[in-house]
Amino acid sequence: MRNAVVIAWDWTIVWRSEFDGIMDVLMKRYHQVIKKLCCSLALWFGLGVMAHANFPWETVKYNGVDYVTLRSVKDFYYFNKIRYGAVITMESPGLAMEVRPGTQRCRMNGVLFILSYPVIEQNGRYLLSRTDLNKLVDPIMRPTYIHSARHFNTVVLDAGHGGKDSGSLGPYENEKVYTLRVARLAREILQKKGYRVVMTRDSDISVSLENRVRIANRYPDAIFISIHFNSSNSRANGIETFTISPVGVPHMGREVKLRDFNTVPGNSMGSASIALATAAHSRALMYLNNQSTGNNFSIEDRGIKRARYNVLTGIKIPAILFEGGFLSNRNEAAKIRTPAYQQTLAVAIARAVDIYKKSTAK
Ligand SMILES: [Zn+2]
Repeated sequence: MRNAVVIAWDWTIVWRSEFDGIMDVLMKRYHQVIKKLCCSLALWFGLGVMAHANFPWETVKYNGVDYVTLRSVKDFYYFNKIRYGAVITMESPGLAMEVRPGTQRCRMNGVLFILSYPVIEQNGRYLLSRTDLNKLVDPIMRPTYIHSARHFNTVVLDAGHGGKDSGSLGPYENEKVYTLRVARLAREILQKKGYRVVMTRDSDISVSLENRVRIANRYPDAIFISIHFNSSNSRANGIETFTISPVGVPHMGREVKLRDFNTVPGNSMGSASIALATAAHSRALMYLNNQSTGNNFSIEDRGIKRARYNVLTGIKIPAILFEGGFLSNRNEAAKIRTPAYQQTLAVAIARAVDIYKKSTAK
């Protein structure tokens, strides 16, 4: 049941080159896995990796949260080695996962993910929450196992804000202008690839969050990508991508509330959404920082994060909210205003759609 881990390699987060060496890694891992593959045909009911009855997960309950040891994560995914220190690294050829105990930071092949719970140390053992294992690590490592990911040919592009709602204010243009530009550019590329594209707005009009959700939910066999640009203090910079918080996990940066334990429509697509977020975020970083093409915008990775924005909680198809840089930062706003930056984001979004589709195909 575990051999699908090899599939991850044609889509996730291969940092330096999209294709070089991937087939090599694939084949080596495939042979290695086949050798070790247990004979059991335990069925997969979409319950997450814990459902694998034959794997001896080391589990620990601490402060009401279920954890697994990093050692069992290493064994389950066939990492060759694990190195302990201020940063714990697990490695195999072509694959590296890093966590910092005491923090929620996790890097997989260089891309930053913000975990739902910190990695903790207890009695000499390092622990990863079961939520992070099931809702983050597993869908990324084994996208073909994502039960909720369906075949699709429609992409709903959501240009954030519009009309009276300008979004973040920038020194050149405001957020609503750039979100629509990037959405239109992405639409053009996606249509050439043969996708049907639905726009939640295609002009400078106000569309309520409820209507954006309603539009998306008209297309059960589609994916949803919301495009935004950020605002904060003048120094904040970089891109970040949000997906729905798992049940029991709050909106980024705020305390957990009782209602966070309610299942929302977006949770039904949680695993598919994190896969889509990974594809979009990693491609955007890769293409924006690609020195070989001359498109080196030196963009920071702020990570893939969890949130409870309306468009993420209410939408019943795989959904992400992508923040393409800070308009409150003059230096970054100057990059965002260039056609090259906008086109690069559009290319990355369109490529991510292909990668997500291919990697989750059953
Ligand atoms: Zn926005």
